[in-house]
Amino acid sequence: MNDLDSTETSNKANNFIASLIESELADGIVDKVVTRFPPEPNGYLHIGHAKAICLNFGLAQTFGGDCHLRFDDTNPGKEEQEFVDAIKEDVKWLGFSWSGEVCYASDYFDQFYDWALHLIRNKNAYVCDLTPEQASEHRGWATAPGKNSPHRDRSVEENLDLFEKMRAGTFAEGACVLRAKIDMASPNMNMRDPILYRIRKISHHQTGDKWCIYPSYDFAHGQEDAIEGVTHSVCTLEFADHRPLYEWFLANLPVNSKPRQFEFGRLNINYTVTSKRKLKQLVDDGIVSGWDDPRMPTISGLRRRGYSANALRNFCDSLAVAKTDGIVDIAQLEFFVRDDLNKSAPRAMAVLNPLKVVISNYPADKMELLTIPLHPDRDMGDRSVPFTREIYIDRADFKEEYSKKFKKKFTPGKRIRLRNSYVIEAQDFEKDEQGNIVQINAILVENTLGVNPEDGVNPKGVVHWVSVSHGRRATIRIYDRLFTHEAPDRGDKDFIEYLNKDSFKTIDNCWVEPELTKTTGEKTFQFEREGYFVADRYDYTSENPVFNMTIGLRDNK
Ligand code: ATP
Ligand code: MG
Repeated sequence: MNDLDSTETSNKANNFIASLIESELADGIVDKVVTRFPPEPNGYLHIGHAKAICLNFGLAQTFGGDCHLRFDDTNPGKEEQEFVDAIKEDVKWLGFSWSGEVCYASDYFDQFYDWALHLIRNKNAYVCDLTPEQASEHRGWATAPGKNSPHRDRSVEENLDLFEKMRAGTFAEGACVLRAKIDMASPNMNMRDPILYRIRKISHHQTGDKWCIYPSYDFAHGQEDAIEGVTHSVCTLEFADHRPLYEWFLANLPVNSKPRQFEFGRLNINYTVTSKRKLKQLVDDGIVSGWDDPRMPTISGLRRRGYSANALRNFCDSLAVAKTDGIVDIAQLEFFVRDDLNKSAPRAMAVLNPLKVVISNYPADKMELLTIPLHPDRDMGDRSVPFTREIYIDRADFKEEYSKKFKKKFTPGKRIRLRNSYVIEAQDFEKDEQGNIVQINAILVENTLGVNPEDGVNPKGVVHWVSVSHGRRATIRIYDRLFTHEAPDRGDKDFIEYLNKDSFKTIDNCWVEPELTKTTGEKTFQFEREGYFVADRYDYTSENPVFNMTIGLRDNK
């Protein structure tokens, strides 16, 4: 190996699983890497899943292998076609393509059934009629061995007959289960005769009414991997205790390949929850508008918020793939979002809280189309922005009186640079009966368009603006964190108690430059001096432009 090769190889091995794969490929232990991303279609994918997706698809990409998308659809009571469709869309949107067709655990139900028969014939499985309460009492607990079920020694013939009846629908739900016969005294609770099949008399989104018994996660997962020739089955740490069982099945079944399981730490992010069950509760209870509400840490929510796929991938790649669960600061995710959008988002001007400025020395019937670059550093072309006698600036940029604290603000007698335009000077202002400022009267300072001001012009700062007559009204949705607590699901109270009541507000009197009514798709812009805003995927129209605030320009939290 020359120096070049060694640099290349060490770049690939940026985590412990990649290093292992690298040495296995070098030693000929594995010829081709096959990984999989195995979601259960019982909810939408969240940011934690994005980490698993980037890891699994990333390993296959790095080492020229395959990564399957496989639905672990063994629990039809909680699964739906809507989730299957959403998951496929999210994986594609993140920028990954799975190898071959989408796989489903349910594709292998016939095979699993045959393998269950195989275990029964080898006296490795039995039908057990204990009630769930009795079964849990028999299981013992971590420090005390369990007791054998009274049905453990049923004959092979009796088990075959009972299992066939389970499948035929003869028994009621919960009447019995098929269990593996392993060791009720094992220190690993997962090895205490785990359940292989349950009776569930419900239709399945893929197999309809073909089955009324369904395999457990444990009985299905490793076998799915084996059928698909998965070499490295990468999952989260909570499955580490299931690994002996995963290996037991592979050792006791006539499988064609022997996948191996590796575990890594789950991604948790502060100020949010990453559990499908909890996210589902937010949706079902109407706390958010849906799985893709822009406040949700789901992939579809982040997308609707304006986070780019590139930013999410960069964030996931920055995470340690470790043997411990960690909590990542949300600021780390936000860093990658700003970093990406700063480079990719065209600039625009939008006034969120408009205050009218009338420029008395500019003719009322005049309009100048100013040519302004879409991006300061990249060649994205230009946009045309109309300049007129009446413009809006943001209320926050004006102060009635000059003060040192606000010395960059616009105040009577002081000058300000209109972004990409002229310098103007405020003369006075008008108030309504309630005492609110409703208009600023100003004059334009000649020879200040597109040039550095001459000595003495002295603008105090730069403000963004939009023409009153040529600008357009828009709706802006502002989002904040959904939870006020750093660890909403690890606090003393129910996570719902930590909801941020002010996580969403709408501003519907915002004024935007006309170009912003002509965008298509989910385009994100930098509204200068405000932050990043994305045209809402569903609600934006050119007649009624709706933008979601993605993130502010700086981290002010
Ligand atoms: P949840 O607890 O949110 O329901 P899950 O683990 O039950 O998640 P699955 O659909 O079974 O959801 O997950 C598919 C894959 O994504 C699994 O391999 C799982 O380990 C991985 N995964 C799920 N949550 C995370 C997370 N927070 N961080 C990293 N990987 C995750
Ligand atoms: Mg799961």
